[in-house]
Amino acid sequence: MNLLTRLYWTAYLAYHLRPQARYAFRPLAHIQRDQARRVQQMVAYAYRYVPYYRETMPRLGLTPDDFRTADDLSRLPLLERADLQRDPLYFVSTAQPLSRYLHLRSSGSTGAPVSVYWDAAGIFLTRAAGERSRVIIAQVLGKTAGYREIAIVNPGGSSQCIREFSLAHSLSPPGVALRWQWLSLYDSPADNLARLNEFAPDVVDGYSSYLEMFFAYIEATGAPFQRPKVLTYGFDNLSPSARRMIEQGFGIPTFGIYRANEAFPLGFECEQRQGYHLNMDLYPLRIVDGNGKTLPPGESGDVVISNLVNHGTVLLNYRLGDLATLAPEPCPCGRSLPLLASLDGRSYDWIEIRGQKIHPMALHGILKFEEGIWQYQVVQRTPTEFHIAIVPMETCNREEIRAHIAAKFAECFGPDIRTEITFVRELPRTAGGKVRAVVALRRDPPSQ
Ligand SMILES: [Zn+2]
Repeated sequence: MNLLTRLYWTAYLAYHLRPQARYAFRPLAHIQRDQARRVQQMVAYAYRYVPYYRETMPRLGLTPDDFRTADDLSRLPLLERADLQRDPLYFVSTAQPLSRYLHLRSSGSTGAPVSVYWDAAGIFLTRAAGERSRVIIAQVLGKTAGYREIAIVNPGGSSQCIREFSLAHSLSPPGVALRWQWLSLYDSPADNLARLNEFAPDVVDGYSSYLEMFFAYIEATGAPFQRPKVLTYGFDNLSPSARRMIEQGFGIPTFGIYRANEAFPLGFECEQRQGYHLNMDLYPLRIVDGNGKTLPPGESGDVVISNLVNHGTVLLNYRLGDLATLAPEPCPCGRSLPLLASLDGRSYDWIEIRGQKIHPMALHGILKFEEGIWQYQVVQRTPTEFHIAIVPMETCNREEIRAHIAAKFAECFGPDIRTEITFVRELPRTAGGKVRAVVALRRDPPSQ
């Protein structure tokens, strides 16, 4: 990246950072005005540059003028994950060459991999929006800059890609300067604890499922522990019992951040920690029933979002795959951004191979890059035996997939690991209608 480009994005970030710290407290009418302006801009952009909207809107007799507020977005067809899987480039803007976008690949906890392309402006806006939760954390820490943070991540996963992309495009950005270290989700708690003690972070961020196991390890062993002042988590849910252990047992306040590769940060917890304040100006969100009809606050249903930030893959009226409920009452903290009271259905099963606990992201890491897969489910049958059911795309080469996955499993988990791969039309669903992508040994199989 040349210096001029990096200067440009550094200035862009600085400009967009300024209003963020107090943004959540702006009057609701102000936030709704911003939201409406972004809706109009994004629909006009999609209509002009994104093949899917360029074809779909005229077919439905819609023009950009039909979209004044976020409510109008529901006039577009409800997009499903499968639509994005079927033809990812159909949703990508042709305004820039593909090579300019950041490509993120994820499968979430449901085992259905999707590709999302982000443009640089989108990435920097999400970084600016992160300031809304950072000010809350800074308050707990008693300092706004120069604090130390450790992120326990999936190596090569989205968090790392996003950070590398923004570092390559900017100079050390103002306001968010902090000392940073990555740890791998696949390393043992003992190794990561040693690294953490050495680095002595103020903040630790990671997958709830990893943090839960990590703190249980510290509690059980009584190992020396350089206590961070704040814990942040996302990607999956922190169980109430783990939260109690970390907050009351270790005295560390925890803050959830609601993230998805398709839109981040979708929301963040405030000091009250009664749910996620939604960044509605950037990502209008509604809760729908099985028919796509909007449900009132207090009722649980599917999360449908529109991304008004990303000019790469443009997703409007998209079913994200999470189950959630909007809070009927505003949060007592005084922030105007509405509250998501509960977020269900994001959980990960750990697997154990030869007594070693392995985070399921290791399995997702293998399968999500496999071309030709709609959806998968990995069931651990014995300590060294896995059954992988795959819903294939028509175009896929089954023998190639079979050989590739077997080789990857052996490479990652040892040569004695056996995989049986079958191709199916459909995967079993839980009572809540979701597919559990990873089912570990010693757990009941998912209800059929
Ligand atoms: Zn609040």
